[in-house]
Amino acid sequence: MVTFSTFTWIVIFSLSAMRVNSLGILFVYRNKEWAERVKDHFICFAAGVLISSPLIMAFPQAVEKNPNAGLAALSGFMFMLFSNKLIKYKMKQAELAFGITALIGIGIHSFIDGIIYSVTFSVSIMIGFLAGIGLVVHEFAEGVITFTALLKGDLSKKKAIIYAFLVAALTTPVGALIAYPFASRLNDSVLGLALGAVSGVLIYLSASHLLPAVQEEEKRHSYLAFLFGVSLALFMMFGKQ
Ligand SMILES: [Zn+2]
Repeated sequence: MVTFSTFTWIVIFSLSAMRVNSLGILFVYRNKEWAERVKDHFICFAAGVLISSPLIMAFPQAVEKNPNAGLAALSGFMFMLFSNKLIKYKMKQAELAFGITALIGIGIHSFIDGIIYSVTFSVSIMIGFLAGIGLVVHEFAEGVITFTALLKGDLSKKKAIIYAFLVAALTTPVGALIAYPFASRLNDSVLGLALGAVSGVLIYLSASHLLPAVQEEEKRHSYLAFLFGVSLALFMMFGKQ
């Protein structure tokens, strides 16, 4: 059942996502080296939470609501994989428009982040919380990455800050608010499919987007941060029982 508090949590989490994203942008603007270093730990921690939450909580719940949720999960995963490939291909095709293509990719991604808050919280506060913590933490890295990508696209620092905020930070609460009226009206079986699709998206995000980004670095503390994220998810799951 969807209550007012569900909506309140969605607003709180999606606005926090926006704030943490903006913090990432500001930190990398002020102190690039420090922000880049912290970013890797945040990515690993987020990856730990975001691989655990679909595997131990969201996906099992989705299958319980709808036995076809596995197909939805596969579709979510494939959609992320191929939309990313398409954006990368377009980027290669039009080298001059690097900034713009990167912005479109990040914009779509952050918009989908917002939809995830609305779907997960509509299923249960617990699942929303778990996915939400991982997502909010990964926003810091996203702010850092967006700003750095925009500078590569020959934008001035001031313009890069504004564009990064509009495209990476603001799109998340917008996505959440647009998705909420739909997500909150879905019946249980359709909500199961939506949660399945979100599980596929989260598995993609952590396993083939966040983790590979830090695996090259091979820092010991990165794996600790990853395990810390996994432990938090396990702690929350067993803590609720
Ligand atoms: Zn994101």
